[in-house]
Amino acid sequence: MADVIYKRCYFDWGGRCAYCDVALPRIKTGGKIKASIDHFIPLAKGGKNSRANRVLSCYPCNLAKDDTDPRETNQWPHVEQRLAAIAASPLLSHGQLKRLIPELVKQVSVEA
Ligand SMILES: [Zn+2]
Repeated sequence: MADVIYKRCYFDWGGRCAYCDVALPRIKTGGKIKASIDHFIPLAKGGKNSRANRVLSCYPCNLAKDDTDPRETNQWPHVEQRLAAIAASPLLSHGQLKRLIPELVKQVSVEA
């Protein structure tokens, strides 16, 4: 996963898991993966690898969701709404992300 894609996803989701809202201060803590990028509509089910289909997810939620297709379960309407809002929002430049991410990490770390 390209670093900038992860950063953008991390920023778009405010450093929190899309599913359980847990604060995710970093992708890894003590070598353990804590955060991951989940494809809301699984790639295996025809989902696209695009910003409109990428959500920040804690590792347990990502494992639990696995290849569940949200179009079949209707389990996460709030995630779907937020994805639509993110897809419609302006794409931040790499430079902007570089400035904003450390601030966000600091904020989220306090809560985690
Ligand atoms: Zn979670």
